[in-house]
Amino acid sequence: MESRPKIIPKKGHRISRKQMSPNALRILYRLHSRGFIAYLVGGCVRDLMLGRTPKDFDIGTNATPGQIKRLFHNSRLVGRRFRLAHIRFQDEIVEVSTFRRAADSSDIEEIPEIDEGKRRHVRHLKDEHGMVLADNIFGTPEEDAIRRDFTINALAYNIADSSVVDFSTGLADLKERLIRSIGDPEVRFTEDPVRMLRAVRFAASHNFEIEEEAWQAILKLASTIARVSPSRVYEEIQKLFLLGFAEPTFFLLEKSGLLASLLPGLSERMRTEPGLFQTFETHLRSIDGLARSGAPISPALFFTALHGESIEREALKRHQDGMPRRQALDASCAAFLEEIAKTAHIPGRVATRLCAILTLKSSICKMPPRRPNTIAGRPEFPETLVYLSVVAESHTEYHSILQWWETFIVESPVSEETPETSDDIPRKKRRRKRRRSNRAKQDQPDTQS
Ligand code: ATP
Ligand code: MG
Repeated sequence: MESRPKIIPKKGHRISRKQMSPNALRILYRLHSRGFIAYLVGGCVRDLMLGRTPKDFDIGTNATPGQIKRLFHNSRLVGRRFRLAHIRFQDEIVEVSTFRRAADSSDIEEIPEIDEGKRRHVRHLKDEHGMVLADNIFGTPEEDAIRRDFTINALAYNIADSSVVDFSTGLADLKERLIRSIGDPEVRFTEDPVRMLRAVRFAASHNFEIEEEAWQAILKLASTIARVSPSRVYEEIQKLFLLGFAEPTFFLLEKSGLLASLLPGLSERMRTEPGLFQTFETHLRSIDGLARSGAPISPALFFTALHGESIEREALKRHQDGMPRRQALDASCAAFLEEIAKTAHIPGRVATRLCAILTLKSSICKMPPRRPNTIAGRPEFPETLVYLSVVAESHTEYHSILQWWETFIVESPVSEETPETSDDIPRKKRRRKRRRSNRAKQDQPDTQS
C-alpha cells in the first residue's frame, strides 16, 4: 500500500469544526492535550468532505483502551470482535478505538471450532474460510486506515492541525464517486462478507459506483453472506433498508446476487411471481419517502411491507383448508419467521409486532369496521395504517379504506402511544386493564393497550 500519506492542510479542505459533534470535539481535545494522537476516522470524515451530516463520529487514537477508560469517566469498554470504548453523553455515544492493524501470518491463530468463551481472549482469529472473527492488535494510524473496508472510509481528520489525512486513494475516489476496496476485494470480502453489503449500502445511499474489480468480487462471493451470523445480518438489514435508501439498495442487492443470500425466501418468490420485484420496489419507494420525511420506520413495518402479502396468502390457504382465520395467520407468521431465521435473527419483540400488524390489518379492512375505537386504540394501529398506505401504492382497493380511517381519526382523535413503550407492557397486565376500561367506557379508545 501507499507509504506516504497525502496530507491536506486546513486551508485545502472545507471541513469546519462547526460541522462536528461537540462531544466528539471534546474527546479529541482531551486526548490531544494529554499527548495522544487523536483523529476523527471512518465514515464521518467521508461525509464531512461530501458536505453531508455524518450519522456518527468515530475517533481513532494511539491511547490504549485502558488509557481511554481512565481518561473518560463516562466510558465503557465494549466489543467482542473489536475492543473499543463507548463514551456516553446525554444524547450521543461516541466510539473511541485504539489504532489497530491487520494481522500477519504470525498473529493468526486458526481454530476451526471456536468456543464463544475463547473469542474474548484471542487477539486475532480467523475461521476455516478465512473470515476474521477477532481483531485486536494495536497498530499505527496508517495500519489502522488500511485495514478499513473502502478507500473513502479510510480518511482521517487530525485535531492537532485540522488536516485531512489520506493513507490510500480515498480523496481521488471521493471525487470519482467510487467505492473501492482497500487491497484485493476478494480477500477483503472473504475476511468479512458484510463488506459486500456495506459496498451496496454506500453505493445506494451516496449515489456512488462500485469499482469494477470490487463489483466482480461481489458477484463471485455473494453467496458467502450465508456465513455471517444471523444477528449481524439483522443489524445490517436495518442499515440497508430503514434509512431512506431501501429502493436503490434493493435494486443493487438483487443485481449483485446478494439478495438471494440475504433473504432467500423472498428472492425465491420473486423468481416464481412475475412482477413481484416491481411491487417490492413500489413498497420500498413508499417506505423511503416516509423515512426521508422523518417518520420512524420500524423493522417490523419494513418486514411486513416486504413479506406481509405472502404471509396473508399462506394464511388464506390454511384457512381454506379448514383452519380458523386467526390461527391460520399465526401459523403463517410462525412459518415465515422460521424460514427467515436461517439467515437473519429477528428479535421476538419485532416478530410479535409483525404478527400484530397483520392481525389488526384484517380488522381495519372490514368495512365498516366493528368497534373502530377499540381498533384505533391498539398500540399497533398507527403502524398498521402506515403499512396499509404502503401496500395501497400497489393495491388501489385499499384507498377507500384508508380514506375511511383518515376521516374517522379526524372526527374522533385517539391518543397515541409509542409502539416500543406499549410493546414492553406485560401481556397479562394489558389484558386486565383493557377489560376494565372496556367495561367502564364501553368501547372508548383503550389507551393502555
Ligand atoms: P455510516 O454512515 O453508516 O455510519 P460508516 O462508514 O461510518 O457509515 P460505520 O459502521 O459507522 O460505517 O463504521 C465506521 C468505520 O469503520 C467505517 O467508515 C470503516 O472505516 C470502518 N468499518 C466499519 N465496518 C467495517 C468492516 N466490516 N470492515 C472494515 N472496516 C469497517
Ligand atoms: Mg459511521
